[in-house]
Amino acid sequence: MKILLLGKNGQVGWELQRSLAPLGEVIALDRQAIDGLCGDLSNLSALRATIRQVKPDIVVNAAAYTAVDKAESDTELADLVNAKASEVMAQEAVALNAWLVHYSTDYVFSGQGITPWKESDVTAPVNHYGASKLAGEQAIIDSGCKHLIFRTSWVYGARGNNFAKTMLRLARERETLNVIADQIGAPTGADLIADITALAITKIQGRPELSGLYHLAASGEVSWHGYATHVIEFAKAQGEHFAVTALNPIETSAYPTAARRPLNSRLNPQKLCENFSLHLPDWQSGVTRMLREVLNK
Ligand code: NDP
Repeated sequence: MKILLLGKNGQVGWELQRSLAPLGEVIALDRQAIDGLCGDLSNLSALRATIRQVKPDIVVNAAAYTAVDKAESDTELADLVNAKASEVMAQEAVALNAWLVHYSTDYVFSGQGITPWKESDVTAPVNHYGASKLAGEQAIIDSGCKHLIFRTSWVYGARGNNFAKTMLRLARERETLNVIADQIGAPTGADLIADITALAITKIQGRPELSGLYHLAASGEVSWHGYATHVIEFAKAQGEHFAVTALNPIETSAYPTAARRPLNSRLNPQKLCENFSLHLPDWQSGVTRMLREVLNK
């Protein structure tokens, strides 16, 4: 099996390099051109030519324009990378009879209510990033290619920056931290997403009926404030020392950003669990593992 992985150095892409390796030959690209291949999603003709040259059995696209606030003003590039490039990948997947594995977000939803979103729920993005990701999903579905689109939420990886690391740093520097308490979701590890992707790929061979949209998030739910509290309490229990004495819950409205954020980021992963016979661990187990790596404990 030949797999073309795009976005190899993002949080999810990095973990996919590991999880896809045992499945076959993996050609992994980032936005730099290498050996005549181009993984830059803003260069549509080069992207198309690269897929035609590689002729993969599966394209796994972990690349995306993920700067949520910047996307409000940088709309053209966000649309190019998140929507138009997805369309090109989907067209080429149809031509090759290949599968396209792609990632999307709970930000395609309005964020209203408290019920975890199902795949069949009505979409209504509240920011441009969400709209561009929704357009990407739609282009893939409309193309008729065999696809797995995993909508996920609150992704973290041990590598690079993440919310938990930022909280640990700020808790060492400041006595008071204000953290949003009315956005609810499930922190989901890039390693979990990559492992489930690899597992799903082993199950789709010869089973086009598994093609579709799936919600993929760790079990349970928490606010950013609850997440921050968990991170700092865990680190304290491991002997870390902090300046922080107060972790204040605040509302989203008290922390204005260029892009609006949905309050309800809960995703219902029942369809994924049933179709692929999966169990999703609770969010705390993945976060604890990441913290142990970050704190070297
Ligand atoms: P990251 O931001 O960590 O990685 C995205 C990758 O895409 C980076 O390596 C980036 O490269 C690359 N990229 C950006 N623009 C281009 C381009 N024009 N051409 C090629 N590569 C490009 O994202 P995640 O790993 O966290 O996200 C993976 C998927 O999950 C995405 O589809 C995202 O929309 C989705 N998702 C993410 C969430 C999150 O909380 N992070 C939540 C929900 C869904 P560079 O570093 O050079 O810019």
